[in-house]
Amino acid sequence: MPFLPSSKTRPGSIVAQRQATLSLNFLVIGAGIGGLSCAYSLASSGHRVKILEAVSQNARKSYSGLRVPPNMSKILTEWGLGEELKAKTRPCRQAAFDDLRTNENIGAILWRDEIIAETGGDFLLMHHADLHEMLLRIALEAGVEIRYGARVAQVIPGEELPQDDIPYRLVNGEIFTADVIIGADGSRSIVREILLKPGQDHGVESGYTIYSTDVDTETMDKDPLLKQLVDDQDWHIWMDDRRSLLSYPVGRDGKYAVHCFCHDDIHTKKTSPLPCDKPSWETEWSKDKLLSLYSDCNAVRLLEIIDSPIILARYLVLPKCETWVHESYTIALLGEAAHPNLPCSNQSIGMCMEDAAVFGGLFSRLRSWDQVPSLMEAYQDLRQERTHFVACQDQANADITWCPPGPHRDARDAAMQTDKQCGLDEFSEGMLRDQWDTVSEVFAYCASDAAADWWVCWGMLAEMAKRRAGDFLQIEMTVVPQVISV
Ligand SMILES: Cc1cc2nc3c(=O)[nH]c(=O)nc-3n(C[C@H](O)[C@H](O)[C@H](O)COP(=O)(O)OP(=O)(O)OC[C@H]3O[C@@H](n4cnc5c(N)ncnc54)[C@H](O)[C@@H]3O)c2cc1C
Repeated sequence: MPFLPSSKTRPGSIVAQRQATLSLNFLVIGAGIGGLSCAYSLASSGHRVKILEAVSQNARKSYSGLRVPPNMSKILTEWGLGEELKAKTRPCRQAAFDDLRTNENIGAILWRDEIIAETGGDFLLMHHADLHEMLLRIALEAGVEIRYGARVAQVIPGEELPQDDIPYRLVNGEIFTADVIIGADGSRSIVREILLKPGQDHGVESGYTIYSTDVDTETMDKDPLLKQLVDDQDWHIWMDDRRSLLSYPVGRDGKYAVHCFCHDDIHTKKTSPLPCDKPSWETEWSKDKLLSLYSDCNAVRLLEIIDSPIILARYLVLPKCETWVHESYTIALLGEAAHPNLPCSNQSIGMCMEDAAVFGGLFSRLRSWDQVPSLMEAYQDLRQERTHFVACQDQANADITWCPPGPHRDARDAAMQTDKQCGLDEFSEGMLRDQWDTVSEVFAYCASDAAADWWVCWGMLAEMAKRRAGDFLQIEMTVVPQVISV
């Protein structure tokens, strides 16, 4: 049956928003980028969505930047944010690879306009706070309710309740039920724990900490080296042994993003205290301690002018979560809760937004309860392999920048030098290109197409078969609502 654009289609959206015939109560845990995106995607498809967020609204710390690869910018554009995105971002067309200690340029990567255009999106740089504000606003406009300062202590698959429209129940003020719960509660997800296999460990420390902040371009303008960074508008990647530094302009006026990746070994070598066990994105770090880790680097000048808080994230390497969907088909994981990524990597945020767009796209086609299991399975099938592949690629890219001295690093530098000599227009065969040649596969992905294709190839056929079978095939399905204590 054809669908009509609904009143929920946001002005500026380039696709009409399909509305689910059966509307469910979703409870999303976590109002990070993944949770907000998922909540918006579901609410604009006709579902009722509530978010519980641990941190109070004023306590959010968002002081740095992010890369918006084309696969992610396409989602934001489809959601009607294209114009705002243009106003709040800088295009990313070149990445310069420099030596962290000496500042010597080793190589560069160029994304030509025509290649980016082929992906159907744009490659942009922006401030994290701007993205968060945009998503929060459209989620609220779509009718999402958010309760801040509500840290979920436990998720328990609940007892059977009738399948019709179950209102949210507040038991003793602190217990909620929902038809479906989405765990978007980040890399240390508590929802994930109920989906881990017995005995599966809860991850190991990679040893890397990522310190993120921003600096003022007005202050940068006073230093010739730093002014050059503001003027060239490139994304800079400074490389060293188990240390790297990323910096790039963001669309927000007067701000420039900085991320420092540093291994615990560097802390030990520099007798700097280790930031172990500090919760990611909630802990501030002192500028002096950060400076001590980079004091022998030319790029330390960028860190000396830091005036904003420095927020740290620990990179925890978690075992692959085989199951993102609970056997009752009423709990699903999304974003870093499902597939923890290297923080501040190229696609760490893009993957969360793709999950959300696919999940919402699938559930916009919901007509009956008996579709819920297949839509949940489809979500997992569509997302698991892709997120794993992209995370491995992000890790490989990071490994290039952290390379210790030795044959591997020599080969990297030689390949970059060859590319440099060829000129950026004549990108040669080389190790670096090998690492990046899947860019088109990653960038060209379209999350809404992935959901639509699945529906055409599988979902719709199953529906038709069901209708043809009529009364002879009545799939019985019980959806079990959940109980959460906060
Ligand atoms: C405050 C903040 C600032 C960030 N800044 C940057 C940045 O500048 N650059 C960058 O590249 N990346 C940044 N990130 C990381 C990036 O946004 C995420 O890695 C990525 O978007 C994955 O998003 P997510 O929604 O899956 O997880 P997260 O972003 O980790 O969000 C999870 C959310 O769930 C909440 N939560 C956790 N446990 C519970 C619980 N038990 N009950 C209720 N709520 C819970 C958390 O408070 C958080 O808001 C930041 C993340 C945060 C939280």
